[in-house]
Amino acid sequence: MAGRFEVPGCDKCRNPAIHHQIYSGRMMCGNHLSESVEKKVSKALRKQLVIPKGNNFTILVAISGGKDSAVLLERIVGTLGMRPDVTIIGGCVDEGIEGYRPPSLECARTLCEDLGVRFETVSYPELGFKEMDEVVVRMSELSEAKAPCSFCGVFRRQGINHLARRVEADVIALGHNLDDMAQTIMMNLQNGDLERTLRLAPHTYTPIEGIQPRIVPLRWIPEQEIHLYALHKKLPIHHEECPHGSGALRFRHRETIAWMESDVPGTRHGLLRMTDDIKALNAKSTENRPPPPSSCPECGEICSGEICKGCEMKKLLFD
Ligand code: SF4
Ligand SMILES: [Zn+2]
Ligand SMILES: [Zn+2]
Repeated sequence: MAGRFEVPGCDKCRNPAIHHQIYSGRMMCGNHLSESVEKKVSKALRKQLVIPKGNNFTILVAISGGKDSAVLLERIVGTLGMRPDVTIIGGCVDEGIEGYRPPSLECARTLCEDLGVRFETVSYPELGFKEMDEVVVRMSELSEAKAPCSFCGVFRRQGINHLARRVEADVIALGHNLDDMAQTIMMNLQNGDLERTLRLAPHTYTPIEGIQPRIVPLRWIPEQEIHLYALHKKLPIHHEECPHGSGALRFRHRETIAWMESDVPGTRHGLLRMTDDIKALNAKSTENRPPPPSSCPECGEICSGEICKGCEMKKLLFD
């Protein structure tokens, strides 16, 4: 008899599975995948978020219109939205990227409206930077080749800091997933950058002087599961990627990590666990502490050099 294609069933309820979680061996239907995502985010929030009693506490959720930050905001509202002492605000940085940012900004705005959350946005020109489309044209005239993201990443970080100051946030939540974390760890390893590894979020028990602490509640959840969750919950998300991102080191590491994970399932978890151990070891030792950051004499942002990275990049591009 011709073989009939059978959709495998969920381990828990026998409904058709939509996901095979290779690193655990589980088959999951949409509802049970969602349940698993929700449990992981709640657990991460319990670990990473310390809300002092008796005070109002403000969380700025950095959103981009993409799936990760949409899931992050939906989950933070789902977990903490009922608490009267917690204010949740969605903040989006507008880099000035034609064709990509306007529609994704609208997704971010719609998500905030749907969830009943205040929405804030800041553009690069408001921060004193040029729009990214202009930066990219200028970059092509520079003698030294650099990827647009090396500039944009610095400007964007300052944009998020700006929003956090504007709304007086106690903590900033970022939507990095397990794949993002593993890619960052590989990039830091490749660059021999221990300093940056030690500064990785969450900052709950390893605060960095001069900036609001970051939390990363999606850090143990693979990108694919976040994507499936966002689709299952029908969140308004923008699917396109930034047109300037393709040459970035991070995107090449995406392939490396995907290959390592398919060869040895659990690789991403292992990289992250090891990094946590290094951070914990370092937190115990009093040596090796980086000197406290100072503030940039030109713009007031925190910096470790003479001027901050944003001002350094501005000079490199437009002086
Ligand atoms: S991909 Fe790069 S250039 Fe595009 S928004 Fe992200 S950091 Fe900026
Ligand atoms: Zn199920
Ligand atoms: Zn500066």
